[in-house]
Formats: sequence, structure tokens, C-alpha cells
Amino acid sequence: MAGKKDERCSFCGRPKSETTLLVSGLEGEICNFCIDQAKVILDEETGGQFQPPDIEKSVLKPAEIKSFLDRYVIGQDEAKKVLAVAVYNHYKRIAQKFDENEVEIEKSNIVLVGETGTGKTLLAQTIARMLHVPFAIADATVLTEAGYVGEDVESILTRLLQAADYNVAAAEKGIIFIDEIDKIARKSDNPSITRDVSGEGVQQALLKLLEGSEVNVPPQGGRKHPEQKMISVNTKNILFVAGGAFQGIDKHIASRLRTNVVGYSFAGINDKQIDKENILQYISPSDIRKYGLIPEIVGRLPVLTYLNPLSEEALRRILVEPKNALTKQFIKLFDMDEIELTFDDDALKFVVEKSMEFKLGARGLRSIMEAILIDAMFELPSKRRTKKLHVTLDYAESKFSNASIAKLKAVV
Ligand code: ADP
Repeated sequence: MAGKKDERCSFCGRPKSETTLLVSGLEGEICNFCIDQAKVILDEETGGQFQPPDIEKSVLKPAEIKSFLDRYVIGQDEAKKVLAVAVYNHYKRIAQKFDENEVEIEKSNIVLVGETGTGKTLLAQTIARMLHVPFAIADATVLTEAGYVGEDVESILTRLLQAADYNVAAAEKGIIFIDEIDKIARKSDNPSITRDVSGEGVQQALLKLLEGSEVNVPPQGGRKHPEQKMISVNTKNILFVAGGAFQGIDKHIASRLRTNVVGYSFAGINDKQIDKENILQYISPSDIRKYGLIPEIVGRLPVLTYLNPLSEEALRRILVEPKNALTKQFIKLFDMDEIELTFDDDALKFVVEKSMEFKLGARGLRSIMEAILIDAMFELPSKRRTKKLHVTLDYAESKFSNASIAKLKAVV
């Protein structure tokens, strides 16, 4: 049964309900009262001269970054490890003093390959939350080359600026997640003979951002306000994380592995050792190039890793374990109306099974939970006497079968 977690400030012990803000750290939480108190002590100790530490100096070690990710993201250990190292190196790079004779560390922009709903966005978002840096999500499919209908690539930076409350210096150290990067792949292996507005053209435009340059950004975005003053943003220290499902890429990987392993062992593995069920783990930059990303883009996204499809066990854990797990969120919502919400294990198993059945992955969990709880969320707040809702398998099944999502089955 998913119990109600008692969140409270680790310093003064106040329960979350009595605070305006409870900030999570690695091992505990701190409330707004203790933050204010700490500020007073800091001012007293430093004569008001305290400067907040630079993120690049206070960034956690890779193993600590991974532990932080573990609290929000279930499984995906390989991706977490690769991401933790890339982020760590990224901020070491920013911390490096400029010196002509020094070795210049290149940017570690990242590509995450994995089916939809496996946690790519969640990983990037959690990293930004950990670092307290501005974070923006851009959908590559709506981007077009300048001059065409759609969004210019600069609009990505508008979003980051907005996330940073127009603090340019903060935005310049932020993180941008570019979703569905696979959808702007070149349609054929032939470099464009005719113009390819939604594919190669966009990749070329994106390249400018990834390379690190001064970009003029319309603060309100769009082309609707041609009179607006541009803001100059340097993308040199912005970390780009690109994600995509790259459907069908397994064929490229398999064919590369086959050609490589026939007759002799490749990188220590022979044909028999290849885990054919999980071929994505062998992904290499040449595969995403074959898929249609131009070599320059592949070169600017040097860190490549993959996410596994989510198993039934993983989905079950996602429901109850992460800090913001769905069950915890619903328990909180009900708690605000002073209703104690609990779930039978069977009911949770039912949610997971339906999500698997509809092939909705982790994205489906929320819609299914909503479908089961919508009547209670509508009715219970007005019923003064009801103080508890215990969701059994029978309850879940009956509510779900009445819900329109059950009809999804016909579509999926
Ligand atoms: P993607 O970007 O891979 O399509 P998301 O990161 O947007 O997927 O995931 C969709 C939702 O599913 C998230 O809001 C999150 O709640 C949940 N989710 C997906 N994968 C995981 C995971 N590995 N651990 C915890 N939650 C997950």
C-alpha cells in the first residue's frame, strides 16, 4: 500500500503544510522560515557581503548527481551515469579560466535515444532542478528555417530567457532540452538537392546555437513583434540535451553490428554475445548519422546514450517511488481537502497493466489514475462526512470501465 509520506523541514521540523516552500536537498528539506533565518545568520557572519556560490564551483560530483537523479527517475542507470558525467564535465568546462595555452575542453552536449515516455525530458528537467539553472524545452518539429512558416530556432532561446526571468547571465548557463530531434532528420541519405525546409535546413540553423555563438533573440519570441528590441545571448555555455525515439534505428545498429562481427569479434563482442532484445545499448554516433542527422550536428552532440523501454516493474515503481510519484501527488491533492487516500496493491497493479496494455508507457499512468479518481475528486470535496477513500481493485476496475479512456483500446 502506498503510504502517506510525512514531509517536513529537516531543520525546524515544521510539516510541509505549515510552510510556503519546502526545498529538497540530497538528504533532507529546508523550509522558507529556515532559509530566512539562515540568511540573517549569513548576513551577520559576513557583514552582508555574502555572494552566492557560482554553480560551476558548487556542482556535485558525478556519483552525487546520479543519486539526485535516482530520487526522481526510476531505472535508466546507464543514461543517468552518462548524463551525470556530461553535466559534471560541462560545469568544469565553464569553470575553466580562459588561457590561450590551456587545453580547451569541448562542450558535452548530449543526445538521449529512447522510446517516448521513458524519462528523457524528466532526466533533463531533474538536472536543471538540481543545478537551479534555467531550463527550457523546445520541440524540434515546430522549428523551421528562417523565413518559413513555423518557429525560428532563436525562439528556443526566447523560452530560456523567459525561464530565467530575462536574466541573460543566468540564461547563458542554462539547459535546453530539444525534444524530437529525430523528426528533423534528413529524409534521404542524399545531401539536399532540393531544399528540405523541415529537416536539413533546421539542422543547419540549430548548428549555430549548438556551436556556441552570439545570437540575437526576440524577447517576446515570434515574428509578430518585428519592432521588438533584440537581446544578445551567448550560447557558448548553454548545455543542450537532445532527445528522440529514433524509431527504426535498431535496424541501422543491427546492420552495423552484423557487418562488424561477421567472421571476427568486434570490440570484444561476437555475434552470440549481442543482446538482440536490447540493441539500443550499442548505439553509436554513426547510427544517428545514418538515420539522417547531419555530421556537423552529430559532432556537436558528442555524448550519446540510451534509455530502456519501461518494464511492468519499472512502471509500478514510477507510481509510488519517486519524490513526485503520481500516487504521492494524488494523496497530496486529497489531503488538501483533508481526505485520506490509500491504494490497494492490486489497484496499482491494475493501473500498470492498463498502461502496458494501451502501450502508453509512463505517460499512460497519469491518464489512467485520473480516470479512476475523477468521480471522487469531483464529489468528495463537497461531502463533509467522507474523510477517507481506499482504492481497491474493484473500485479501480469499475471506475475505469466507465471512463472514456477505456475506449482508447479501440484506437491503440
Ligand atoms: P520522454 O521525454 O522520454 O518522452 P518524459 O520524461 O516526458 O518522457 O516522461 C513522461 C512522464 O512519465 C514523466 O512526467 C514522468 O512522470 C514519467 N516517467 C517516464 N519515465 C520515467 C522514469 N524512468 N522514472 C520516473 N518517471 C518517469
